[in-house]
Amino acid sequence: MRNCREITALVSQGMDKKLSFGERLAIGFHVMMCSHCRNFQSQSQFMRKAARRYTGQLQNRPDKKP
Ligand SMILES: [Zn+2]
Repeated sequence: MRNCREITALVSQGMDKKLSFGERLAIGFHVMMCSHCRNFQSQSQFMRKAARRYTGQLQNRPDKKP
């Protein structure tokens, strides 16, 4: 059984790279029982989406076009 520290580290890694099946399974299994890591995971996903939206806006700025 992995502890919260390992799970949050895995969740963070999963934001940057693809996790293995075993790693995703470990996260999924852990967050079923641990609300702390569940919150961390949903916050990370929210931040990731927000960051992506922000980056997309920067790239689509009209004044960047010639
Ligand atoms: Zn946990």
